[in-house]
Amino acid sequence: MAMLKHLLGIEGLNPVTVTTLLDLAESYALLNRSGKTQRDLLRGRTLINLFFEDSTRTRTSFELAGKRLGADVLNMSVATSSVTKGETLLDTATTLNAMNCDLLVVRHNRSGAPALLAEKVGAAVINAGDGTHEHPTQALLDALTIRRNKGRISGLTIAICGDIAHSRVARSNILLLTMMGNFVRLIGPPTLLPSGIEAAGVELFHDMETGLKGADIVMMLRLQKERMTGGMVPSPREFFTYYGLDRAKLAYAKPDALVMHPGPMNRGVEIDSDIADDPARALIKEQVEMGVAVRMAVLDTLARG
Ligand code: ASP
Repeated sequence: MAMLKHLLGIEGLNPVTVTTLLDLAESYALLNRSGKTQRDLLRGRTLINLFFEDSTRTRTSFELAGKRLGADVLNMSVATSSVTKGETLLDTATTLNAMNCDLLVVRHNRSGAPALLAEKVGAAVINAGDGTHEHPTQALLDALTIRRNKGRISGLTIAICGDIAHSRVARSNILLLTMMGNFVRLIGPPTLLPSGIEAAGVELFHDMETGLKGADIVMMLRLQKERMTGGMVPSPREFFTYYGLDRAKLAYAKPDALVMHPGPMNRGVEIDSDIADDPARALIKEQVEMGVAVRMAVLDTLARG
């Protein structure tokens, strides 16, 4: 595998790199389940979690991943409201360079912010979600979860449903899943499907019944109200009626179709609790577990690079 300096997106990766990362993550998943650690691997290295936007799963799992590999982990949460993007990032880069940080995990509400920081800091930069652009570790953990449950990560029909337009998770997943040879379908109202997205090699659907037919995986997305301008959906209730995943709509997919959601979930808006909490159908908890393993694999790979 070519040495990775940063992980700014799925764009730029190839199937070999993805498979190598997933294989390494799989071994970390087994290690985590066995209760063992590898604290020597990143001993003496500093990992900074720099979050300009809220996060629960991503920040804590990067923290846990770093600690399980023995790194010194610092969490910096930065309020964006009072400062402009340019000033914050450049000031922060100067500060981080002075601290000799080795690994920098960045989440920012502006697309491209991690790439800008990567140009300015000595550390290896990992994009933990930038605006509506990419969230590469989410796509990797989703791929690992699918591979563990379906035995492969190619030739599957995967429906991504809901607020595609504002979702960096959708963008990274579309790139990864099409690159690995899956059939990706996007389902949502026209207002929530970005124009021109067909060029990414996906099929578009506006109704769940046709879109879910024959799907192996149903990936639900949160309605990202914080990124919406104006009324893009009539009401949460109406959205649920047409696009919310409940048992009746899941029945359109294959009988063994599995359900995913990156979290945080809006129960009763994009997904019914009955499905979200069904261990026979929902992989949501395993996604969180695989998040730690995938982030360990990414940190390990970048630290060696
Ligand atoms: N946690 C994911 C993200 O940061 C998905 C979401 O927020 O809906 O993009």
